[in-house]
Amino acid sequence: MADAVHNGTNGRDPNALVVEDLRVSVGDRQIVKGLNLTVRPGEVHAIMGPNGSGKSTLANTLMGNPAYTVDSGHAWLKGQDVLALETDERARLGIFLAFQYPTEIPGVSVENFLRLAYNSSKGTDLTPVEFRMMLWDKLEDLQMDRSFARRYVNENFSGGEKKRNEIMQMAVLEPSIAILDETDSGLDIDALRIVADGVNRLLEQNGDKMGVLIITHYQRLLNYIKPQFVHVLARGRIIKDGGPELALELEEKGYGPMLAALGVELPVEETANQSV
Ligand code: ADP
Ligand code: MG
Repeated sequence: MADAVHNGTNGRDPNALVVEDLRVSVGDRQIVKGLNLTVRPGEVHAIMGPNGSGKSTLANTLMGNPAYTVDSGHAWLKGQDVLALETDERARLGIFLAFQYPTEIPGVSVENFLRLAYNSSKGTDLTPVEFRMMLWDKLEDLQMDRSFARRYVNENFSGGEKKRNEIMQMAVLEPSIAILDETDSGLDIDALRIVADGVNRLLEQNGDKMGVLIITHYQRLLNYIKPQFVHVLARGRIIKDGGPELALELEEKGYGPMLAALGVELPVEETANQSV
């Protein structure tokens, strides 16, 4: 315990991602309004919420996107003050955010892209051959084809292939906390399965070291990957915490009844298109 106090964790689980009373603004509007969350290694958490509730704002803030201003609050991981770090330092600390709309990088293979990301995040200098050996092991674990690694990043990738790429990044970088912001409502069942199978495999192999935060409007992803903890975010606050049953309740009834029961009113522009 004395050590925990000395390294700044102050009694918090040093291996967990701990978010405390976080408030975030975009421009002059506060979007996240006092959010608390603890994700420990081995845990899968889902944050669900209506469109516009601040889910992506949370993810982007944790990764250090400069468009988001932290008004107050903290985020801790391994005794480090996450919000004081640059984005690349956060990645090295073990925070991973899957890119929702990754850009094409013509002429750069998945393998080379990942090797650069790996070497920079681990502070290593693996040669192409050394890296390839490691990558092939990971691909085998994930039951993915080696040929995929030779493709150019995101060039003509299908939705499913983009997801494979995301999972592969995660497998290679071995984050302490993996954040998957899955607002892409266009994901088909195959793509959902790829994400879920990948995450589940990584948890099996590396689960004692990795926490997962899945951010989603829709509950259907949660049919394939089972969170132990579900948090409902509305208007920048977590309005309800529970287990998987919360996600099922939202699937059945939508967000309306839960918000109404808790007295949460959505602004008019956020009430459109809130079906689950
Ligand atoms: P969610 O992911 O829950 O749908 P977001 O965090 O994307 O919600 O958005 C919450 C609110 O913040 C919305 O009103 C959105 O318009 C605004 N917002 C989020 N990110 C930006 C941004 N980069 N620029 C301007 N407004 C933003
Ligand atoms: Mg979003």
